[in-house]
Amino acid sequence: MNVHEYQGKEILKRYGVAIQEGLVAETADQAVDAAKKLSEQTGTQWWVVKAQIHAGGRGKGGGVKLAKSIDEVREKAGNIIGMNLVTPQTGPQGKKVHKVLIAQDVYYPGPNPTSEFYMSVLLNRTTGRNIIMYSTEGGMDIEEVAEKTPERIFKEEIDPAVGLQAFQARKIAFNLGLSGNAFKEMTRFVAALYKAYEHTDSSLFEINPVLKTSDDRIIAVDAKVNLDENGLFRHPDFEAMRDVLEEDPTEVEAAEHNLNYVKLDGNVGCMVNGAGLAMATMDIIKLAGGEPANFLDVGGTANAARVEQAFRIILKDPNVKAILVNIFGGIVRCDRVAQGIVDAYRNIGNIPVPIIVRLQGTNADEAKRLIDESGLKVYSAIELKEAADLVQQVVG
Ligand code: GDP
Ligand code: MN
Repeated sequence: MNVHEYQGKEILKRYGVAIQEGLVAETADQAVDAAKKLSEQTGTQWWVVKAQIHAGGRGKGGGVKLAKSIDEVREKAGNIIGMNLVTPQTGPQGKKVHKVLIAQDVYYPGPNPTSEFYMSVLLNRTTGRNIIMYSTEGGMDIEEVAEKTPERIFKEEIDPAVGLQAFQARKIAFNLGLSGNAFKEMTRFVAALYKAYEHTDSSLFEINPVLKTSDDRIIAVDAKVNLDENGLFRHPDFEAMRDVLEEDPTEVEAAEHNLNYVKLDGNVGCMVNGAGLAMATMDIIKLAGGEPANFLDVGGTANAARVEQAFRIILKDPNVKAILVNIFGGIVRCDRVAQGIVDAYRNIGNIPVPIIVRLQGTNADEAKRLIDESGLKVYSAIELKEAADLVQQVVG
């Protein structure tokens, strides 16, 4: 689950990670109040107005603006709230901004130059260990750095049995070219960041930039925090951070019905029981030359009500030109599922696309007969390859 920058920073702060302080606002008036309050708390005289959307690259898209007076805070917040922000990560359609973060300006002049670093914590799935990735080339497109100058990205792998060691935090500070107070602050920053990552069951932290201020403090200016949904039950307070406005509305509706649905870009809708079979089904659609429109796992109990709900969700996607139903009758009986499909088809009425059904397992033959005799625009297949080829025939 993704959270907004301001929520990510709130989480980091709980674990002692130094952050650029800020307050969230939903109107220009609230932004002005936030700016005044922030000045009382931090002494700041300049502010940054930052669009809160679940996508990065906001600076490039015009969603991060410096304000040097209260009037400018009002004006810039007013412009950003409600805007459709297009960044390299939102896609061309952009995302509507509902909230801004009013943050203290941390790029103030001082005795030393400022530096922007990159730092992320994530799981290396190959070794099964967490790694801290970091670079002196922060603030900019890290993908470009990785492509053109990969030697500037460092990786520190952490042994889960002993956790992050003090020497590793010092190595990171050293590789980032720090000394004096900034060196000490960076070691503390890294330790706190790693602890936060572990304790929150997160799947990704990306802090870009981590700033060395002109007075040698180390703080998180940005925060991309991705919480592992499978760990959410251990953190009931994080559930409140979910922002459904940022999520695909069909995915939200599917989740309400306990259906595992992920929207994709293709034109073949698929309804499958079991995540592994769903993945295999998507593969076979691609093998037959098609593109899956979604991932959908209806779960072990593929009863008539769930099948109908799943059809309704798949059909909300206007790109869908055919639906492939692939059910293995292990726990469920195929003839029951087939009857469910026929009933759902009649209940929904007017399904504009062909449905190809492959049922395998208990009572599969009976299921095929039920479908063939229904007189509906439903095609049955026993073999998966046969089903995929049928899909290709009807999609063209
Ligand atoms: P992103 O573009 O979505 O990654 O958003 P960031 O939070 O990383 O902000 C984008 C850029 O805004 C940063 O790289 C900074 O250059 C700039 N920025 C952020 N905070 C401040 C600030 O306090 N003062 C100034 N002058 N610039 C800032
Ligand atoms: Mn950033």
